Amino acid sequence: MTSTTFEPMNLEAKKQLKSIFGYDNFRDRQEQIIEEILAKKDVIVLMPTGGGKSICFQIPALIFENLTVVISPLISLMKDQVDALKTNGVSAAFFNSSVKEQEKNQIIQDAQSGKLKLLYLSPETLLPAMNTWFNDLNISLVAIDEAHCVSMWGHDFRPEYTQLKVLRTKLADVPFVALTATADKITRKDIETHLGLNSPTTFLSSFDRPNLNLEVRGNVPKQKKIDQILDFIEARPGKSGIIYCLSRKETEEWSQILSDNGVKANYYHAGLTSDQRDKIQTEFINDEIPVICATIAFGMGIDKSNVRWVIHNNLPKNIEGYYQEIGRAGRDSLKSDTLLYYNYRDVKLLSDFARDSEHSTVLLEKLNRMLEYTESTTCRRKILLAYFSEVLPNNCGNCDVCRNPSATFDGTILAQKALSAIKRAEEKAGNNTIIDILRGAKTTEMFSKGYNNLKTFGIGADIGVQQWLFYLTQLKNIGLVEIAYDDNMHLKISPFGEKVLFGKLTIQLANFKEKEKLSKIKEKKQPSTLSPDELLFDRLKLLRRKIAIEDNVPAYVVFSDATLTQMSAEKPITENAMLAIQGIGLQKFNTYGKDFIDLIKLFIKDSGPKISTYDETYELVKKGIWVDDIAKMRNMAVATIYSHLAKLMQEGKSIDFKTYVSDEEFEKIKAVLPQFQDTNTLKPIFEALNGEIDYGIIRMTLTYLEMGK
Ligand code: ADP
Ligand code: ZN
Repeated sequence: MTSTTFEPMNLEAKKQLKSIFGYDNFRDRQEQIIEEILAKKDVIVLMPTGGGKSICFQIPALIFENLTVVISPLISLMKDQVDALKTNGVSAAFFNSSVKEQEKNQIIQDAQSGKLKLLYLSPETLLPAMNTWFNDLNISLVAIDEAHCVSMWGHDFRPEYTQLKVLRTKLADVPFVALTATADKITRKDIETHLGLNSPTTFLSSFDRPNLNLEVRGNVPKQKKIDQILDFIEARPGKSGIIYCLSRKETEEWSQILSDNGVKANYYHAGLTSDQRDKIQTEFINDEIPVICATIAFGMGIDKSNVRWVIHNNLPKNIEGYYQEIGRAGRDSLKSDTLLYYNYRDVKLLSDFARDSEHSTVLLEKLNRMLEYTESTTCRRKILLAYFSEVLPNNCGNCDVCRNPSATFDGTILAQKALSAIKRAEEKAGNNTIIDILRGAKTTEMFSKGYNNLKTFGIGADIGVQQWLFYLTQLKNIGLVEIAYDDNMHLKISPFGEKVLFGKLTIQLANFKEKEKLSKIKEKKQPSTLSPDELLFDRLKLLRRKIAIEDNVPAYVVFSDATLTQMSAEKPITENAMLAIQGIGLQKFNTYGKDFIDLIKLFIKDSGPKISTYDETYELVKKGIWVDDIAKMRNMAVATIYSHLAKLMQEGKSIDFKTYVSDEEFEKIKAVLPQFQDTNTLKPIFEALNGEIDYGIIRMTLTYLEMGK
């Protein structure tokens, strides 16, 4: 594909990458995507959150002669993106319902006159404008961000997106690029068909995020969950994390629980005013509040690279949502933990929501896939990637299933026992009742409903309750048993289950392991002392915050965490060294470079190697100054100076012992020493010598003798 005619363009792209954005290299598909756009082809970009989608259209925007229009549904994010471009010295603006009337005319004028390189628009503003001022623009490129919003099956469907097709027809010669972090098959297809793109080239990046540890815990009682989450957070002091909850009420409740237990936390949901939400978001980004309990609205468009963990308090609606949410952790590629809790109440609630919706079949199916994921006994990452049509050849080794793999056995008889209990209870019993029947439990329910008379009563008494729960889950996973969410969670036998029950098929089951014990790796406390680099990082963040407040932009618009991390490790104090840091382009260097260099210089000076107190004494000794005078000059006790001399002697410095201790003193001290077993405390020795010889001289002599002289 690559022909030499594009080469100058490629060089130009690479130049822009460095001088504007401050990066040395493109990430995996970025260069090819840009090349394709520059060749005026339509493109679909599917890249996980944090993958670097923006640059894919921003660099072509810089290279093309005329305006690039960016369509985005996220009004809050538009401002940040435009601020980020401006700090890089790119002329950009946004136009949405939040812009004041007077400003609108100015923006239109700038767009028409060619002053702007990029104009961000919400679809609601674009559609009406298409008959008016929008017609007079010279457009080189259209980028449709969050393109999955065109899919009716997704969680973010925006009806206006389906009308963007009109724009495609209208701007026949202009390349279109559609970008999203959602990449399941339905969405992909919807983007292709509903946006009306011209035989687009699709670029699918790997959605694998190997640094995310995946763990799932099912049906954990509330109090236990609280204990576990508190342990979890305590083991990660001060680290940023998000707890996702299903309801607004729960976000408030969790925030309260955490605060009551000394964890600095806050909550976030759509019921707050936009000022409140902005404030919380900023405090989170700036590491002022490490933990946020939030509904899934939180995190959309937050470019915070150091989120170290994400906990789901409830089952997510579908895998794409779940993947996006956990994807907010570890954007800096460092190890991060994700933990998902779910229980059957969530399943019931979510399936009720789904059923009430217009697209209930699809939504229920997606929910079902989510549930299968949680109850899986195969590598979780394999399931996730398979969902995005990616094949992970080996088990990942970084999920709870991999850490705790299961051996299998012929589970046919065991399954038959359970199935027959379900059958004989006429499919009118849930998990717990079935287990009671199998184990022959002597409960009132068993007797009142006559279950104690069933033939199957007690046929599984040799197997524990937890074990039965584990096997029943597998029977559901394999598809022998279904849960009737609409009928009190009663267990029903599927046609496949019937076959096993009647001996027409055999099945394999995973061995039971005491999951609780195995998976609860004792949470380890992190040491709380900071390394010098971390200390500098903290100071750099403070400076970043000060600048962000002054300039009224989010902190990450000034510099990303990744940039500050590199800065704290490399400590650049020259222009060249600073420009070599990833994420610092020319404009940013000019605006902020000096402040950061000054701070780093100060830090180096403060923390530079200090002359030790011993060396200071040594310097004076070398000048031939006597002990008493050194003590006076240094404002220290004579004995202390002697102890310095002892130490220096031990270190092998040239200290002439005989200059300080006379032969007579040496012999006297040596003579009394056999009386003492412990020569660490000097006082008894001093007293044995009738107080005639100074402590310092005793100290030096002892050291001299210890050294084997
Ligand atoms: P997305 O929109 O895909 O979630 P962004 O475009 O916001 O991701 O990029 C995520 C982060 O990665 C940003 O901080 C961005 O500056 C950075 N980034 C993008 N491309 C590169 C690159 N080639 N090298 C280094 N960092 C990059
Ligand atoms: Zn795995």
